[in-house]
Amino acid sequence: MDSPAAARRAPYDGSTERITADTCRSCGLCCASFTGSEVYCDVTVEDMKRLSKGFVRRNVVRPLLFDRLAHALDGNRIPAGAIKTVWNSQKVGPLKGVEVRACAALRGSVMHRVSCAVYENRPRVCQTAVVPGDRTCRHVRGMVQQALDESLQKDES
Ligand code: SF4
Ligand code: SF4
Repeated sequence: MDSPAAARRAPYDGSTERITADTCRSCGLCCASFTGSEVYCDVTVEDMKRLSKGFVRRNVVRPLLFDRLAHALDGNRIPAGAIKTVWNSQKVGPLKGVEVRACAALRGSVMHRVSCAVYENRPRVCQTAVVPGDRTCRHVRGMVQQALDESLQKDES
């Protein structure tokens, strides 16, 4: 029988994990930016109408002329804006002490307990881009869990 330590190191198998909307409350990984981007989710004009003026003023970045040109050249729709990201040192949970860059609306500690400050009025893209249990969700959870497992193994060796 595996020891508790060995069981902790068991490889994460994202394909079998049961993931529901409840899982999101103790995750938040898809609201974090692992690319170091200064902005995160795009917001449309309609999204901005639902969000409070104060939130938009403080947290929504409008695309610069260069970004508009880049989107236009790529044939992409030009977003009205995007929510900025902020660095936060995680207070509790498996990422305690780690600086995580995430959407400015994310509250709490990633992979422990999180909430979205604008959940009821969150941008449409947040409701459709990643769905609990879909491929992207499992990928990002697997990627972070693997990194954590590797870090734990290094600490124990
Ligand atoms: S990665 Fe999956 S479980 Fe985590 S917050 Fe996003 S949708 Fe929810
Ligand atoms: S607005 Fe809310 S749901 Fe959307 S990325 Fe930010 S924290 Fe996540």
